[in-house]
Amino acid sequence: MTDQIDRAKLAQALENEEDLFHRAHPKSYELYQRARKSLHGGVPMLWMIRWAGSFPVFVKEAKGARFTDVDGNSYIDFCLGDTGAMTGHSPDATVEAINEQIQKGITELQRRFKLPYWQFALTATDANRFALRMARLITGRKKILVFNYCYHGSVDETFITLDEEGTPISRPNNMGPQVDPRETTKVIEFNDIAALETALSARDVAAVLAEPAMTNIGIIHPEPGYHQALREITRKYGTYLIIDETHTICTGPGGYTASFSLEPDFFTLGKPLAGGVPAAVYGFTEEISQAFNAKLDKDDADVGGIGGTLAGNALSIAAMKATLQNVLTDEFYAKAAKLQEKFTAGVEGVIAEFNLPWIVKRLGNRSEYWFRPTPPKNGGEAHAAIDPELDRYMHLFALNRGILMTPFHNMALISPDTTQEDVDYHTKVFREAVAGLFG
Ligand code: PMP
Repeated sequence: MTDQIDRAKLAQALENEEDLFHRAHPKSYELYQRARKSLHGGVPMLWMIRWAGSFPVFVKEAKGARFTDVDGNSYIDFCLGDTGAMTGHSPDATVEAINEQIQKGITELQRRFKLPYWQFALTATDANRFALRMARLITGRKKILVFNYCYHGSVDETFITLDEEGTPISRPNNMGPQVDPRETTKVIEFNDIAALETALSARDVAAVLAEPAMTNIGIIHPEPGYHQALREITRKYGTYLIIDETHTICTGPGGYTASFSLEPDFFTLGKPLAGGVPAAVYGFTEEISQAFNAKLDKDDADVGGIGGTLAGNALSIAAMKATLQNVLTDEFYAKAAKLQEKFTAGVEGVIAEFNLPWIVKRLGNRSEYWFRPTPPKNGGEAHAAIDPELDRYMHLFALNRGILMTPFHNMALISPDTTQEDVDYHTKVFREAVAGLFG
C-alpha cells in the first residue's frame, strides 16, 4: 500500500536514480541541448517531454524488440512506441535516420520559414488545431477569428459563416458540431479592416487563423496594406496571428509569408510538404515557446489535446526532408511560375477573343478563372459569384478531353512535371469549351 512507503527513502532512491541516469547519458543530454534550439521542448512531439528522466533518451538504433541509445546503453523495449512499433523495430538504417533527419529537416524549416521552433503533425488540420490550442492556452482567451468562407481543414471552430444579412451562422452542412461555432468563433469578411478592429477590440480573441491569400473559395488577394493592418491590429489587441500556408505554399519556396515578408506568430503547413506522405508542421516564435512552457503542466503534456503517437514518424520526416530539399526547390518555383504565366496568358487570350466578362487570378503556380468581371474582395462576394452549372460544364468539358481541373472551382496548379504542351493543350480545350457556349 502506498501509505506504507517510506517517502524519505523513496525521495533518496529517486535522487540516486536521477544521478545514475545523468551519468549514463551524456550524449543524450548533449543532443537534447541541441534539439532545444529548434524543436519546441527539445522534442518532435510535445508528449515526448514526459519522460521519467529530466531529458529524453536519444535512440541510435533499434531492431526487433531491442534498442541502443546514443551513449551505447542497450534496452529491451516493452514500450514499442506505445503500439506504434508493436511489429518490432525497423531495420537499423530506418531508425538511425530519425536522429539525423530530424536535425536536417528542422534546419530547412527554420531557413525557409524563419520561425525558430517547430512541431510535427500528420495533417494540416491538426497543425491548425494544435496552434489554436497553444494560442488559447497562452492568452487565456476562448475565441478565435476566421474569415468568411475560409477553409482550414476539419477544425471544428472554423465552420462558421456570415448569412446574407452579415449575421454569423453555423456553416451549412456543419456535421454534428459539439458546440455552436458562434460560441467559439468570430467571423468577418477578408479585407475588411474596420470589422477586424471591432472584432478584436473586445480583447477576447486568442488568435486569427488566416490564409494569407484566400484560396478555398477561389483565389482572393489581400488588398494593398491589408496584411500590415492585420499584423498591427492583432498586435494591438494581444491576438496571435496564425498563417495557414497549406495552399499558399504555391506562392514561392517560403510560402506567401516569405514572398511578402509577413510576420506571423504561428505558421502552419501540410499537404504537399512530404510529397503525398501524411506530414504537417507548425512553427512559432521564441516568445510563444516561452509563454507556452510557462503554462505547461509537464506531467500531463501527453493528454493535453496536442500531439499524436505517429506525428513525428521517421517515414513522414524523411519524406518531408526529401520533398523540401529536392522537389519544392527554388528552381521548381521559378520554372512553375513561368509556366503558370503562360497558362494564365492562354486563358486571358480566349477571354479577350470572345469578349467575356471573366477574369483569371494567379498566385505563384496556382491560377483560376472566374465568371465575373472583377476580382472578388472577400469570401461573401466570391461565394455569390459561383455559377454551379457553368462550373460543371467547364469541368466536364475538360475532363471529357483528358484534363482534370480542381473540383468546386476552376483552379489549376503546375507541378514539376507539367509541360508547355500540357499548358497549350489546356488553352485549346478551354477555347473549345468557350466556343461551344459563345461561338
Ligand atoms: N488548411 C488549408 C488552407 C486547406 O486548404 C486545407 C485543406 N484543403 C487544410 C488546411 C487541411 O488539410 P488536411 O485536410 O490535409 O488536414
